Amino acid sequence: MTILKNLYQKVLRELWLFKHRGHDYSCPFCGYSSDTMLPFGQELAEEVKKDHIIGGGRRNVRCLKCGSHDRERLIYIYLREIAHIFDSGKETHLLHIAPEPRLSQALLKAGIDYVCGDLFTEGYTYPEYVRNMDVLHLPFEDNTFDIILCNHVLEHIPEDRKAMQEIFRTLKPGGFSLLQVPVSYLLEHTIEDFTIEDPHQREITFGQQDHCRLYGKDYINRLQENGFEVEIVNISKEYAQFCLNPEENLFVCKKRLHPSDYFD
Ligand SMILES: [Zn+2]
Repeated sequence: MTILKNLYQKVLRELWLFKHRGHDYSCPFCGYSSDTMLPFGQELAEEVKKDHIIGGGRRNVRCLKCGSHDRERLIYIYLREIAHIFDSGKETHLLHIAPEPRLSQALLKAGIDYVCGDLFTEGYTYPEYVRNMDVLHLPFEDNTFDIILCNHVLEHIPEDRKAMQEIFRTLKPGGFSLLQVPVSYLLEHTIEDFTIEDPHQREITFGQQDHCRLYGKDYINRLQENGFEVEIVNISKEYAQFCLNPEENLFVCKKRLHPSDYFD
């Protein structure tokens, strides 16, 4: 009976996917092209909507077939189309912090030197290729990685400057890190108040119950203060077929090749 039920559900799903086939969006992970996307993310509280948080809130960006969302597609497309790390023969040592599953799978198949880690939380299970690690104490030598990915993590960490310093330390000179966070360009200054611990208060102040700040325009300064040269890149319009967030800029955080460059 269970086999029949599973088969029935599988057929229904295939019909549903067939019905939504289209040319509006294309998923770079699974290759499915559709006429629509499914909702993803949490609805923002009324109190915080005025801040116009980019990279947060509920929006129609989830792939019908594999479930990928705009934030992980953005990183993937940058790595594939701009950094060309999937080109054969390219040697890349890459660290992926708090890895998204679909991005991980693509990177595992890329033939690069790939390491990924997360701070293990009790009650959760992790794939065997994920190592338990704390971004505040990365277990690596200085100048180890060509690329470090840390996508929508820093807004959860009280000591975000320490995390930035660890990422900078372990990045090779000439390497870069993609440090995406939810950001409001309407705010001159980041809203940060560690005395706010009540989940509802956090939601109406920072946009989400488990965030401890809402970054403003000065996010770039914070990255620069911790050593990075920051390049703001927007590839969302150029690669609109992948249903990226047109407003989400990439923060490409570079460690300069020569320390003397800092005195230019
Ligand atoms: Zn997909």
